[in-house]
Amino acid sequence: MDFSLSEQIEHIIDQTAELICESQYVVALVGAGMSVESGISPFRGKGGLWTKYGEPDNRGYEQLLQDPKQWWVNRLTEQPRPEAAAFETATPNPGHYALVEMEKMGILKHIITQNVDNLHKAAGHTNVAEIHGNRTLLRCIDCNMRFEKNEIDADLENVPPHCPECSGIVKGDTVMFGEPIPTDVMHVCQQETLKADCMLLLGTSAVVYPAAAFPSLAKQNGAQILEINTEGSALSEICDLTINGPTGEVLPTLVQRIREIKEI
Ligand SMILES: [Zn+2]
Repeated sequence: MDFSLSEQIEHIIDQTAELICESQYVVALVGAGMSVESGISPFRGKGGLWTKYGEPDNRGYEQLLQDPKQWWVNRLTEQPRPEAAAFETATPNPGHYALVEMEKMGILKHIITQNVDNLHKAAGHTNVAEIHGNRTLLRCIDCNMRFEKNEIDADLENVPPHCPECSGIVKGDTVMFGEPIPTDVMHVCQQETLKADCMLLLGTSAVVYPAAAFPSLAKQNGAQILEINTEGSALSEICDLTINGPTGEVLPTLVQRIREIKEI
């Protein structure tokens, strides 16, 4: 990465740190930009998997409901694309760890992430709402209970697996095209958005709904909106401050400034 913090950006980081320190309830909305810095290809935009291969069939969820056995057979037998290997080897970057520090300091109350790669939790973050699911987990489509993959038997002879709690069909936790956002996580996202008096937009182009609606909702509710992204987004105009830079470099500097202000 050839990014270096210019004096002008340093100044905006100082202002951002001050606004964060004046806030009582900071919530972060995270997008693909944070994962890209860990080597994971985005889905949309330049170099995106869907830009290259086309968007997945938006009847995917409907097909799962119609024939869950076939869906599972496909899942267990299809060769993953080479880019998917990046998910297996990706590790959290300094931006993820900076957010963990902000959580431990009691400043960052919740993350709403659009990423499915589990990297916030892998970094040690506790309060995370994964609005598009978590690729390392499975979920019951009826009661929303999540499972580690090794908790559920799913081999070709034994699919679809059923939920041990309610007998519902179990699928990957990642939200598919055509699938509604699970009601439990949607509820958390809305509640946290309404509690926020400061929302950080991190590496998100803010075009995918419903997540893209949260900043406007927070703003209407009186929250400050602060953006860190390598480029401007659809929501830059409602932001109180925008820092143009990679989250992996800006966030650690921001945490350092917050420590200086709070003297911790
Ligand atoms: Zn269930």
